[in-house]
Amino acid sequence: MKPHLQTTARMLAFAALVVAASQTGSTQGQGQRGRGGQGQPPSTPTWSEPQIREAMSIARVGRRLTPKAWPNGAKVAVNIGYDVDNMGVGRGGGPLPGAASSGEYGAVDGLPRILSLLDRHQLPASFFMPVSSAILNPEMIEMIKKSGRHEIALHGWVHENQNQVNNPEEEARLITQSLDYFQKVLGKRPAGTRAPAWNFSLNTVEVLRKSGLIYDSSMMGLDEPYEIESKGQPTGLVELPVEWILDDAPYFGANGALPVPELMFKVYRDEFDVAYKEGTLCMLTFHPHVSGHRSRVVQMEKLFEYIKSKPGVWFATAEDIAKYVKQNAGKTH
Ligand SMILES: [Zn+2]
Repeated sequence: MKPHLQTTARMLAFAALVVAASQTGSTQGQGQRGRGGQGQPPSTPTWSEPQIREAMSIARVGRRLTPKAWPNGAKVAVNIGYDVDNMGVGRGGGPLPGAASSGEYGAVDGLPRILSLLDRHQLPASFFMPVSSAILNPEMIEMIKKSGRHEIALHGWVHENQNQVNNPEEEARLITQSLDYFQKVLGKRPAGTRAPAWNFSLNTVEVLRKSGLIYDSSMMGLDEPYEIESKGQPTGLVELPVEWILDDAPYFGANGALPVPELMFKVYRDEFDVAYKEGTLCMLTFHPHVSGHRSRVVQMEKLFEYIKSKPGVWFATAEDIAKYVKQNAGKTH
């Protein structure tokens, strides 16, 4: 995801609310209408207590899923994640050559540099990849598969914003199409997904629940794994939460807003230190076209060396973490 996309998504969501408000304002009862029975929320100032509960019940924090013990007695689980949306057509700039070239950098220079770093340290990672990135640079799939340590998971068909799709049938079709594509090129079905722009539509939880995916990694309700609850009911979906604080894109962005990459290292290190102390989970998010640049990879390596210097760290793919917490659900610390 990219921060400007998140801003755009927020604006779109706000615009949708305004449109919905104007519709519901003119016709009583339209708040329950809409695609897939999700309905559109009425204007917030008019919400009654039940409407507030209903509207905000789509993806809530359910059970905490941090297990009593991580594998081999580890104190903390760490996932190194890369959102490989360098060639997500739905990303900012789309097919415009300038933006596309800065994205292509991630595929041809950034990713090899990152994989080489992960090999040097023998670390596993999760690569969340829009199918469009795989279509345009299929060699990335082979490069990532080579070590056998990494996971490839979903990140949209073209990095589409699900709020803009906002249609349960279409969202389900895009997920099925993406799963089929990766099944074909990986020989296995991805276990999880990270929503482009880390945004769900009002339909997404239900679509994911039916997809058979084990986990999602797009919500931000806790610092540790939890089960997504929807409309007061457990969904069975494991959430491995992300955070903008632990995402390289807001720090660097297209304009290189943070010229000293070492500052990001310090934030990531402090986040890890508290996760370690609390014995939970640290989800790191990078982008090959953002952090694959020379000065930034230096700090990435420094971070990995710092984390490796602590005893009892379980580096794992998101898939392995999700499966582990699901198996150990209820045995919380
Ligand atoms: Zn993304």
